[in-house]
Order: sequence, then structure tokens, then C-alpha cells
Amino acid sequence: NKMHNIKLRQIAIKKGFKLSEYGLFYKKTGKQVAGSDEKQIYKKLGLDYIPPELREDTGEIQAAQSHKLPKLVELKDIKGDLHCHSKWSDGDNTIEEMAVAAKKLGLKYIAVTDHSPKLKIGHGLSESDVIKKLTEIKKVNKKLKNFRVLSGTEVDILKDGSLDYSDSLLKKIDIVVASVHSSFKMPRNKMTERIIKAMENKYVHIIGHPTGRILKERNGYDIDFEKIIEAAKDTNTALEINCTPTRMDLDPAYIRKAVENKVKLSIGTDAHNASEIRFISLGVAMARKGWCRKGDILNSLDAEKLLKAIKK
Ligand SMILES: [Zn+2]
Ligand SMILES: [Zn+2]
Repeated sequence: NKMHNIKLRQIAIKKGFKLSEYGLFYKKTGKQVAGSDEKQIYKKLGLDYIPPELREDTGEIQAAQSHKLPKLVELKDIKGDLHCHSKWSDGDNTIEEMAVAAKKLGLKYIAVTDHSPKLKIGHGLSESDVIKKLTEIKKVNKKLKNFRVLSGTEVDILKDGSLDYSDSLLKKIDIVVASVHSSFKMPRNKMTERIIKAMENKYVHIIGHPTGRILKERNGYDIDFEKIIEAAKDTNTALEINCTPTRMDLDPAYIRKAVENKVKLSIGTDAHNASEIRFISLGVAMARKGWCRKGDILNSLDAEKLLKAIKK
């Protein structure tokens, strides 16, 4: 980012240096202070090292001066994927195939979050099919070593904020992601209330693709994000960082707001086939741009700890 570089150059001048793309030099003698090693350059300028993702002139220089930069989450910290689909709804692969693919990427668990009936194009599952799916998950878990499939759903948030499954069913599911897939054009206060009502449900753990944007296609729904953040915190509901390349929802600016307000975030690939689980790295990149530490991300927990942390 240009402003970041301008500010670095200003700091260099104050210290009697000159900073250019060739390195850091003494202004008077032209002698080199530090060369191509960025870490050395930041150090000589009296700053902690600023990772490339944070070089946006949004407070990172002050944070680096006062040693308050976050230690950013890394891909290796992520233990599971909390949003994906199987053949039970509109995915291309079986639960087992999804699990094997995730395991190959080094993950320890996935939540298979298939759609609810309202989403017809998503082949949403009836309540009785959800129960059948739970039996299949048990079978897959018996077969796989060092890996766990968590039961899950991506339940539709209906127009009035109620959910597309009964509480008595949701109660039986490990990971409940609730998402808006219909009536996108509601007035701001109504849409905000709708999502908050879903968060108030005791069995909802995560709000999926929270702003609903589709890149180059549609803006997010009109919501009061401050209120969403407040409700997420009050209800212990996580906001999702959806990794689908066309969504990338939340935007890093919103991720950072969530982090500042101590709202938990959850990374979900929303994979509809086994090869898309690799997009987990895109979610980590977004999280880093949003100043996330490991502790801000639910999926950095082991499955057991995760299930405890999301309880309401
Ligand atoms: Zn969705
Ligand atoms: Zn989904």
C-alpha cells in the first residue's frame, strides 16, 4: 500500500535515513544501513516487523511502534473446516470423500453442513433425512483414524428470522451454521433484526457468509453491522469467514471489527466438492488481513474444545 510506504519513508527521514526500493541508507554518507531484508529495515526504523497483509496504513505503524501488532493466525493453526456440503444436499462428494480430502490437507475434522429444505436449488434435507445422515456420519467416523466428522447443517434463516428446522432437530447437530439464502432486499432494520433473531436461537453457532455479497455480482444485504457484532458477542455466536472465492465474506475490514469486539470467527470453505476444501488457505489469508490471532478463530481449537466453546 502506497500510504504505508510513504509513512515508512517519513520515519526514515526523521531518523536521518533514506528509504528506497533498494534499501535503507544513511542520508549523509549514502552508506547502506539495511538492504533487501525487510525485517532489518523495520528494525532499524524502530518498528516491529509488519507482515505484508497489514501494510494498509490502518494503524499498523503505530501498533508496530508500540509493540502491539497481533501475532497473526497461520494455516497450520487451523484444525478443521466448519462449512462444507456433501451429496446429501448439493455437494458432489460423499461425506467420506470430503473427510478423506480434508485429512489429506492435514485437517483433523470437518463439519458437513448440508442445506435445509427451504433451499430447493440446494436440495435441502428433510428432518428425517438429517437423522439418517447422522447414522452415516457415525459409520464414517468408525472407519476413519485420527479424523472426526462433525454433524452439521447450514439451516436457512427464514424471512422472519426463524429457522428452517425445529429446535428439537438442531439440538442433535454438532455444528449449526445459519445463513440467509432468500429475500435479500429487505430494509436495513428488518434484515438486521432477522439475522439477530437467528443468533438468539440457542442452537445456532455460526452465521454463514454474514453479509451475503457475491463479488462482481451483488452487494451484501443492507445490515447494521455494528448491531450484528454486538448481538454476536452477546449470544456467543461466531461470524463466518466464508472462503468461496466469489464470496470472501466477511470482508477483512469487517473481520477486524469483529476481532476488536472480541467476536469469535469461524473459517468455512463452503466446499461443494472435495477439491474446494483447499480454499481454507484463502480464509486464513482473509483472517490475517483482518488482524486475527489464532485465538480469534474457532477452528484453531481441537474438536472437543470447539464443541465446548460454542455452547450457549
Ligand atoms: Zn450458504
Ligand atoms: Zn454452504
